[in-house]
Amino acid sequence: MESKIIVALDFDSESKTLAFVDRVDPTQCRVKVGKELFTRCGPALVKQLVARNFDVFLDLKFHDIPNTVAHAVAAAADLGVWMTNVHASGGREMMVAARDAVATLNPGDRPLVIAVTVLTSLAAADLQAIGVSASPAEQVLNLARLAQDAGLDGVVCSAAETAALRAVMGADFCLVTPGIRRQEDAVGDQKRVVGPADAVANGSDYLVVGRPITQAAEPTSELAAFNQAVSGAR
Ligand code: C5P
Repeated sequence: MESKIIVALDFDSESKTLAFVDRVDPTQCRVKVGKELFTRCGPALVKQLVARNFDVFLDLKFHDIPNTVAHAVAAAADLGVWMTNVHASGGREMMVAARDAVATLNPGDRPLVIAVTVLTSLAAADLQAIGVSASPAEQVLNLARLAQDAGLDGVVCSAAETAALRAVMGADFCLVTPGIRRQEDAVGDQKRVVGPADAVANGSDYLVVGRPITQAAEPTSELAAFNQAVSGAR
């Protein structure tokens, strides 16, 4: 099974992470390693997850000069990750360098490289304060176009933005969406949430789900329920 669910491994230790992945079959989900877990446990844990046959999304959102980002993306590829990402606001040249860093790898060894457009924590006033006069929706579209033009594989976006992006970016551009909740799930600190079936119907390729699975008493049955919810969608 090619699961559309990417479980966000937002744990603060290797033991908690392995306790979770020990209960999950790698055919049932992909996993995401973000800044907290990576900073605590480093590449060794990423390699362990890859060795257990998990598709790993290394979510470190690189944003630096092109040469540095290219080397960081190459290092992610050396870890064997399935997907990694950069900030689109690092600019076209930086994204081209990220793409070129892995372009010559065999398709099976080449991670997907996607871009973060506008952080969902930023509203219009926050963008104005950093000198961006476009609305968040306009800026998401601007940066998604720039990412596609630079040859990246897709973007991270809110599931609420997916339908508009899918219409403009075409079928082959990968859309990865966090902020997924079923009606019965606690929303937590997410502001705009979308249900799993709706996210897929809107055009999401992969759904990032954290706490509704990782904090559940029975994570495997919650994961199965998410897989079930998206299996008939689209
Ligand atoms: O626990 P929850 O399902 O809210 O986790 C969502 C994951 O997606 C977290 O790892 C969070 O950092 C990440 N994320 C997000 N919103 C974004 C980008 C990433 O929630 N815009």
